[in-house]
Amino acid sequence: MLRVEGRIANEDAEFDGAIDIDEQTGLITKVGPCEGRSDVATEGCVIFAGFGDLHVHAREDVSGREMYKEDFASASAAAIHGGVTHFADMPNNPAAPIDDASYAAKEKLTTGAGVHITLYGGIGPGTRPLARAVPYKAFMGPSVGELFFSSPEQLEETIARYRGCNVSFHCEDPLILNSSRGAATHEQRRPAQAEISATRFALQLIEKYELQGKLCHFSTGEGLKDVIAAKARGVKVTCEVTPHHLFFDDTMLSDENRLWLQMNPPLRGREDRLRMIEALRMGAIDYLATDHAPHSLEEKANGTSGVPHLDTYGAFTTWLMVEHRFTAPQIAKVCAANPGRFVQPYLPKGNGKGFGRVEEGYVGSLTVLDLKKPYVVTRESLKTKCGWSPFEGVSFPGSVRHTVVRGRVYSQDGDKR
Ligand SMILES: [Zn+2]
Repeated sequence: MLRVEGRIANEDAEFDGAIDIDEQTGLITKVGPCEGRSDVATEGCVIFAGFGDLHVHAREDVSGREMYKEDFASASAAAIHGGVTHFADMPNNPAAPIDDASYAAKEKLTTGAGVHITLYGGIGPGTRPLARAVPYKAFMGPSVGELFFSSPEQLEETIARYRGCNVSFHCEDPLILNSSRGAATHEQRRPAQAEISATRFALQLIEKYELQGKLCHFSTGEGLKDVIAAKARGVKVTCEVTPHHLFFDDTMLSDENRLWLQMNPPLRGREDRLRMIEALRMGAIDYLATDHAPHSLEEKANGTSGVPHLDTYGAFTTWLMVEHRFTAPQIAKVCAANPGRFVQPYLPKGNGKGFGRVEEGYVGSLTVLDLKKPYVVTRESLKTKCGWSPFEGVSFPGSVRHTVVRGRVYSQDGDKR
């Protein structure tokens, strides 16, 4: 039995308590009053249900062609380092999981991973839903990989087959991307209008085909108005935001960092960035999801889009708490509870009530953040195979002290156990 005592934060409450986790079942058996016998040190810390990142590109598939960038083992190590206890992996692999057989083959590769991994099934031109329930991802326009649509009609034709399914959308309008191809900068080639237009179309599809929709890596304040209005009229839609769209904006770009901070969708203006922060706080955005996209240093130097994040997830949330006054329950909601609800229908047996809450019967995974000890991000500290971070040199005000995965403790400060 593992005992963890201290300050606990759920989405709806913050309290002092003691958590008992059965290492055999990996589940929480009891949450009760503190008794002064914690197995791990938690002074100055807040204990959350284990964080979940719903948007990761871990690169492993049966082809193995992109495993020089990352694989399930290295992504799991980076996740644990960053306080992430489960994640959901995107399907834009060379051998994309788009039907029952290819999905099952990819799923087999996740069994030895250090954290639980939920796989998205891919939606591309002509695909059909799997026999089993899985979450899906649709790329509306060209990004990284081959799985994308070239017109709205082609997308709708395919989505019509996925009525009632859980579908995540990468919202960038392929027609606008195409007409902006000649612009001077990456930001101008993928303008805000592409996201705004694609968002409207995605919301129409979600409503028309009664999908459980999710909009990935949202970045424009203007597009958010449509999301908020859709939520208000009962459309089943949720929304992600990345650490990079909250931390960086286009006023911070220089010749030096421009290539390193290139991703899809690109960085937007300061106004958009601040609106995303407020939307995350107020609940208009539901998840802090990273779009962890490991590419080699060489690929980045040659202009490949995407940035890695798993190692820095937990420390980044301390920036939201200290710099932007997020409360611990607000963090618990977007980093633990909402991601837990998202993956719950797809969890295999043995996961109790699932992830996302410090309560009896839930998975005994915890993220323990030290709000007193800063983390200066260095290349040497990272576990991701790609070996770099957009936050190198940044000092986050707090750090991950322990990550507990189903009762197993990983400590950053050399605590035993
Ligand atoms: Zn992505």
